[in-house]
Amino acid sequence: MLKAAFPGSFDPPTLGHLNIIRRAASIFDELLVVVAENRRKKYLFSADERVSMITELVRDRQNVSVVICDSLIVDFLQKQDIRLLVRGVRGVDDFSYEFELSMMNKSLDSRIETIFMTTDPEYFVLRSSSIKELASFHGNVAGMVPPPVAKALADKFQ
Ligand code: ADP
Repeated sequence: MLKAAFPGSFDPPTLGHLNIIRRAASIFDELLVVVAENRRKKYLFSADERVSMITELVRDRQNVSVVICDSLIVDFLQKQDIRLLVRGVRGVDDFSYEFELSMMNKSLDSRIETIFMTTDPEYFVLRSSSIKELASFHGNVAGMVPPPVAKALADKFQ
């Protein structure tokens, strides 16, 4: 039974995240999408809002569940007895950041394996922070996020 976790801020979830979720869910028996709640970070959407958006988007996937994590991901994985961490990579900059993060996690728990999934080409420019910026100026985010997320962004910035 291969169980993996896909952690991130998902503030908000984008079509890039969803692409990684769908692809990972077709490889692993179970995928846990882990929504980070870091008290020192400022989010546009609350953890509950991010969980409900993702839950709605993965409703058709029986093997995907969504949870909040407000602790160190390594501690969370140990509690859940998960060794596999999925991370999406858009390019070299992402890779160097993700590589360091995986080294850090491995130094905390050597059993953890990070699996890097390269983005599908049509999603490689999608980044939650730029999408929020665009939405704040009432720019068109259709094609970057699923329709319910586009609506949630429009509501936030109306
Ligand atoms: P973080 O808090 O690490 O910035 P994000 O919510 O931005 O978390 O992203 C979670 C994961 O999804 C990261 O591994 C990130 O690289 C990946 N990701 C984000 N956007 C995309 C995309 N467009 N294509 C592929 N992976 C992505």
